[in-house]
Amino acid sequence: MSIEYETVIGLEVHCQLKTTTKIWCACDADYDHKDPNSTTCPVCSGQPGALPKLNEKVLDYAIKAALALNCDINEESQFDRKNYFYPDSPKNYQITQYFKPYAENGKLEVKTNSGKESVVGIERIQIEEDTAKNIHTDSESLLNYNRASIPLIEIISKPEIRSAEEAYAYLNILKNKLKYTKVSDVSMELGSLRCDVNVSIRKKGDAKLGTRTETKNLNSFKSVMKAIEYEVSRQIDIIESGNKIVQETRLWDEENGVTRPMRSKEEAMDYRYFPDPDLPKVIISKARLENMKNEMPEFSDAKVKRFISEYKLQENEAITLASEMELADYYEEIIKISKEPKLSANWMLTEVLRVLKDRNISIEQFTVSPDNIGKIINLIQNGTISSKIAKEIFEEVVVTNKNPEEIVKEKGMTQITDNSEIEKIVDQVLLENQQSIDDFKAGKDRALKFLVGQSMKISKGKANPQMLNDMIISKLS
Ligand SMILES: [Zn+2]
Repeated sequence: MSIEYETVIGLEVHCQLKTTTKIWCACDADYDHKDPNSTTCPVCSGQPGALPKLNEKVLDYAIKAALALNCDINEESQFDRKNYFYPDSPKNYQITQYFKPYAENGKLEVKTNSGKESVVGIERIQIEEDTAKNIHTDSESLLNYNRASIPLIEIISKPEIRSAEEAYAYLNILKNKLKYTKVSDVSMELGSLRCDVNVSIRKKGDAKLGTRTETKNLNSFKSVMKAIEYEVSRQIDIIESGNKIVQETRLWDEENGVTRPMRSKEEAMDYRYFPDPDLPKVIISKARLENMKNEMPEFSDAKVKRFISEYKLQENEAITLASEMELADYYEEIIKISKEPKLSANWMLTEVLRVLKDRNISIEQFTVSPDNIGKIINLIQNGTISSKIAKEIFEEVVVTNKNPEEIVKEKGMTQITDNSEIEKIVDQVLLENQQSIDDFKAGKDRALKFLVGQSMKISKGKANPQMLNDMIISKLS
């Protein structure tokens, strides 16, 4: 490549809002779990004469999402019609916010995996309705209108993203922020989060943007990265060979790892936007905005900073624990019982996360209460049990969620701290391991560990390891 190119990326993210009813009617918004076309009414199926009425919850959720993304909220905005004829839109238009969106001028602080930091601007966020779901088979096309008029927000970034890695980081932080507000499931897998990518390239130093393509049909953040990388190299090849980029919509082909042009017929769309005459202007009062501001959570970036300063955690520990609000809450519940932030973090990061991973479950599905983890930590701290026994108790609590204090009592698992009992164990081990005694005297550290281990085994894990250690050393010196 003879010339250095710069990549210019803009992302359009559609996010379903998790309200219980649809945006214009009282139909059940849980569209995926119901029989196809069962949650519809004259409004969301576009019957003549049916009138939409804005679901106030949609507006609240949308405001929260916009605040999470640091947007300015417009006091006045409006709904517009985007006209097109396609079976997924029963009204033959989609209601969106074209001329005046409710939120603008947002920004997200982004940090890539390789540590590069940047701020990506958000142009605007608009409220709109989802369309029916198309299911194409070889012989027929099916439509499910349950999804018609599910509330959406479309979040449009400024074309300020410069690499696939930065796009990936932007999407992750965006998803994290929205998840913390609890206004959406933000799952690409379930379709509640969808992303289209605009990519163009230009020679470094050029102020003018190059011709862009829009890629759709991306079903994971990893596909977004791959599609960007593919588009960049495809566009460079075209320009290097003296040809021009065609502005078009392309589809990502996951199986073959390529983008392909959509039929050009669908490209030549003129949506003839105009204000929707059936809906009044959207007014967001100062009082409403204040209420929503008061309901905002502490976000993960703020939590990470607090965990580091308040609990003295390492940055990577804090990032993991704050990656999900529920995980962070669980951790802080443990601390309330244990009063040990550092030890509690260790238990979270090793034992709890291991079980979640093994069972492929989330912290909400984890049956052990944080109180019981806190109690296990207390039992170690006050010398009742060794950390080895603690792990055994944890395994039992994972199955039964029984009070760890009771398990210790029932099973007689209390740690052996009686000096004469410790001595008895050590004497037996020393009697049986002359070779290790010789090794220890010859300066081999491993021999001591071995002797402590053997003593631990005889005590069935119940002896205090520090006492065993001290006893062995004092007997051999
Ligand atoms: Zn309806």
